[in-house]
Amino acid sequence: MNEDRCPGVLRPHLAADGAMVRVRVPGGQTTGPALAALGRAAARHGRGLLQLTSRAGLQVRGLPEDLPDAFEAEVAAAGFLPSATHERVRNVVASPLTGLHGGLADLRPLVRALDTALQADAALAGLSGRFLLGLDDGRGDVAALEPDLTYRALGPAHGLLVVGSDRGRVVALDDAVPALLALARNFDAARAASGVWRVRELPAWVDGLAGFAPVDVPVAPEPPLGVVGAHAVVGVPLGFLTPAQLAAVVAVAGDGAVVVTPWRSLVVTGGADRLAALTGAGLVADPTSPWTALSACVGAPWCASGRVDTQQLLRSVADEDRRWPRTHVSGCERRCGAPSGPHRDLVAPTREALLAVAAAPLVAHV
Ligand code: SF4
Repeated sequence: MNEDRCPGVLRPHLAADGAMVRVRVPGGQTTGPALAALGRAAARHGRGLLQLTSRAGLQVRGLPEDLPDAFEAEVAAAGFLPSATHERVRNVVASPLTGLHGGLADLRPLVRALDTALQADAALAGLSGRFLLGLDDGRGDVAALEPDLTYRALGPAHGLLVVGSDRGRVVALDDAVPALLALARNFDAARAASGVWRVRELPAWVDGLAGFAPVDVPVAPEPPLGVVGAHAVVGVPLGFLTPAQLAAVVAVAGDGAVVVTPWRSLVVTGGADRLAALTGAGLVADPTSPWTALSACVGAPWCASGRVDTQQLLRSVADEDRRWPRTHVSGCERRCGAPSGPHRDLVAPTREALLAVAAAPLVAHV
């Protein structure tokens, strides 16, 4: 049986640049002060960067192999480690703008209720770190990520409980948490003998569920960017939030909420009128920016498997006047962090090969 090697705060992954920990942020919901505290811990003990993940989590890299107790204590004090037994199973992704702008329901209370109930469920402490719970407020953004189990709002008080991507049944909002956790326990028991981790890997389990019928898979909307209502949504180039960028986010957010999205961007609540302070720090609000199309794995020299410095390679081309199709550059065939949607897939390319995927250079700026 494969071993579940998903890292957590209490189970670091050893990379070429030192220990890396993954911090779960259920629903991506955090605050300016909490992010600031995590950033201080990252700077004090590691490389000082916060890496955004495709599940709206955060990673800290470059830590000592023997993780200092003080680091764990600082992460816990910042509110990111409420449970030692369940830290790696708190994988909840939610519509980032829920309750802030658009959507059919405010699912922020559901994020908190699901996280609390998950941590209280002793039977789920052994759930795979790869298992993903989704809360979609009806706009289809999270459902399109095809979590293992999803609550997809159909209105303020009811929604679809979706298993895998396309089997569902209607449930009341008030019943969503117990229904999701019951299914998670059921799946965990069913998958134990097979060695699989994800619902999509066990179709016989899905087929055996009573009361579920085929449902549509929504088309993913474009990820938000720029001013959205009263809020600012900014992309983080390559998914690495620098200390200066973090400082700008914290200055704009104040004590308010910040939402980490699954698209390596941040929703800074109430930040619409201070967008310039965020873009001035190098965060992205322009939909034509190359950083909306270019992504990369960590690559060399941070990852021992990397054959190229993916980050440097992309930085070397991003300033050129070129239009890019959605492109992901990997340092090896594992293709870590590749987007789930259509994209150009380049493994350890030369700079020339990378440039070749861009469309013709822009003629002129008028
Ligand atoms: S794709 Fe390869 S080089 Fe890149 S982070 Fe993953 S293992 Fe490392």
